[in-house]
Amino acid sequence: MASMNVQMVDVVGQYRNIKQEVDAAIHAVLDSGQYINGKEVAEFEKEVANYLGVKSAVACASGTDALQIAMMALGIAPGDEVITTPFTFVATAETMALLGAKPVYVDIDPHTFNIDPSKIESKITQKTKAIVPVHLYGQAADMDSIMAISRKHGIPVIEDHCQSMGGDYKGTKLGGIGHIAAISFFPSKNLGAFGDGGMMTTNDTALAEKVRVIANHGSRVRYKHVMLGVNSRLDAIQAAILRVKLRHLDGWIAARRRAASTYNRLFAGSTVRVPFEAAYGQHVFHQYTLRLPKRDAVAHALAEKHIPHAIYYPIPLHLQEAYASADQPEGSMPEAELATKEVLSLPMHTELDDKQQQYIAQAVLESVRQ
Ligand SMILES: *Cc1c(COP(=O)(O)O)cnc(C)c1O
Repeated sequence: MASMNVQMVDVVGQYRNIKQEVDAAIHAVLDSGQYINGKEVAEFEKEVANYLGVKSAVACASGTDALQIAMMALGIAPGDEVITTPFTFVATAETMALLGAKPVYVDIDPHTFNIDPSKIESKITQKTKAIVPVHLYGQAADMDSIMAISRKHGIPVIEDHCQSMGGDYKGTKLGGIGHIAAISFFPSKNLGAFGDGGMMTTNDTALAEKVRVIANHGSRVRYKHVMLGVNSRLDAIQAAILRVKLRHLDGWIAARRRAASTYNRLFAGSTVRVPFEAAYGQHVFHQYTLRLPKRDAVAHALAEKHIPHAIYYPIPLHLQEAYASADQPEGSMPEAELATKEVLSLPMHTELDDKQQQYIAQAVLESVRQ
């Protein structure tokens, strides 16, 4: 087959399909003179809270900030320990370390790639102050098991909801099952802005108020600072764009799920291991990630054909130079370590068509047969 132009994430293609709505929303903000916070941000917060079925949503500047501010609000301090997965984007653990806390890793379930709840309790100590599950690739972590541990030990749960906007667990939208959740609106995420953006969602109104104060320099009333805070705001332009995009999110999730089933069908009957979908929730396919024993050879073959692909993530966090600690050495997280060697994410976005997917799948199938 002749070569084909395929993108990993087609943010421009998606924009073109909603250009009129987005352009009108941007121009309304330009004419309003209110460029930070204001009406667009307040309305967007309400719409996200409504969409997720949570009491409160508080906007901030990024998913990373959302994680950090949530941890600050829960009082995470130097010497504390926070339990999480080593198989995630660095921000999950980076924010813990910035607050002086130690990321304590728990190995993953090899099917869902998410934290394995059966291994959490043995890592809990007097110092454990939070558990941070990540709904990796758009699939929920096993929240019932995690929340049962949380209740038993009185440890709050922060959902890293940066890849899973719109996903659910047993019919409940993610973002309101833990005590608080962190959402990212980075452009390539399922609900992406045209720049950075983030949000914290919670059913705890006191906690919502606290994160709002922290995100605003620790201030409720201008020039009175009642707690240590940061400057983390969402631009009105981004909020206006995101309000338009939120109206399309369910349709886009359906498109992602359709693309995932097309890939599944194309790989059916081959040795290629397609993504596992847990029965407990709807996977929203932020990524469509294969497991391939000869991953590097397949990646090489795809690169030769200029087919985009990605490895999320090539190094588990416990083996990153900046986060390595003697008590979490190589070999201590076997499932996560194996996953870093076998995962390969294929192009996944809302504008993929069947021809592109056939071309991609054929290239993968040819390379695994070699
Ligand atoms: C994207 C992402 C973040 C960080 O979000 P930003 O908006 O880029 O700061 C955190 N955790 C995970 C799992 C992510 O995928």
